[in-house]
Amino acid sequence: MDLLTTLVDKGLRRELPTREEALAVLATSDDDLLDVVAAAGKVRRHWFGRRVKLNYLVNLKSGLCPEDCSYCSQRLGSTTGILKYTWLKPDEASRAAAAGLAGGAKRVCLVASGRGPTDRDVDRVSDTIRAIKDQNEGVEVCACLGLLSDGQAERLRQAGADAYNHNLNTSEATYGDITTTHTYADRVDTVHKAHAAGLSACSGLIAGMGESDEDLVDVVFSLRELDPDSVPVNFLIPVEGTPLAKEWNLTPQRCLRILAMVRFVCPDVEVRIAGGREVHLRTMQPLALHLANSIFLGDYLTTEGQAGKADLEMIADAGFEVEGTGQVTLPEHRAPDGGGCGSHASDGGCGSPGVCDSAPAAPVGQARTDLVAVRRRGAGTDLAPNA
Ligand code: SF4
Repeated sequence: MDLLTTLVDKGLRRELPTREEALAVLATSDDDLLDVVAAAGKVRRHWFGRRVKLNYLVNLKSGLCPEDCSYCSQRLGSTTGILKYTWLKPDEASRAAAAGLAGGAKRVCLVASGRGPTDRDVDRVSDTIRAIKDQNEGVEVCACLGLLSDGQAERLRQAGADAYNHNLNTSEATYGDITTTHTYADRVDTVHKAHAAGLSACSGLIAGMGESDEDLVDVVFSLRELDPDSVPVNFLIPVEGTPLAKEWNLTPQRCLRILAMVRFVCPDVEVRIAGGREVHLRTMQPLALHLANSIFLGDYLTTEGQAGKADLEMIADAGFEVEGTGQVTLPEHRAPDGGGCGSHASDGGCGSPGVCDSAPAAPVGQARTDLVAVRRRGAGTDLAPNA
């Protein structure tokens, strides 16, 4: 297919595809799906080989959020029976992180619900970052605390944070449909603050919220412009008790096309499969490793993932290898100091339904509520974490 030859050539040169080319990837047929995966896989292997970076989420503060993000089980008014707790102490967070690192993760993502941190919260998280860094040589730490105020990114950097995550989630045009308590511009501003403070920026999206193909391409092109080091791709988990609970719009094939499009538009960036991997890709997860070079190990913020051991087996069975702490994630031109790259996203943290209004409509997926389990283990509980 001429389209795929063109996209591979551009991906190897880090050249931006046209919007029409990106849209065409989303419009490919199931008959062409393996060709699309093979083409985007060439780009992935060129920049990242067969390495898979593992990231581990620690939910520092769960639920009780005053914001109204429609996709989020921690939102104001959510009736999802998630774990709710306030800030983990540094030693509690450090113990949770250690479990993920022992399981093979090289990055810990410290996430807290809420609009954004107070200065006191930044102090707490700084103590936690120092505790984790002291006890785990070579670990990368990413913070995800919501909207940042002036000076907070710098303080997190000084405390040892390597990266900051704040997702754009969806296109600017549809942002007001999913959240009313803050704006798309607020989110862009926080990513800029992270960049300016010398933190590796991590910013991604949530697919499956009712957006059109054009919306998906818009948000991925906006991400390319923001130039984060890592782009988490979440697939909406329509959790009962949230406004988007009925939005089962994704199929494994659709998810693969979305990941391929992200890879072509952001060829040399850490593309991470985030929340919804098990729920929407299901038995197609190994194919997605040909597109993304990064996943979360174990559980998500408020829902459970597959067993960490199953993640590791899948990576090995598919012929990939877990990236070690001594290996640099990003291509040299993106990480001149050998630094790391970025992170978070999840099932319910800082991401509506529907069928596309263009190109071939996204096939409507079957509701798989049997695959959604609220997290009842790990951080904030007395039970061992999944790692
Ligand atoms: S995504 Fe973040 S800000 Fe939005 S409701 Fe959830 S925890 Fe709050």
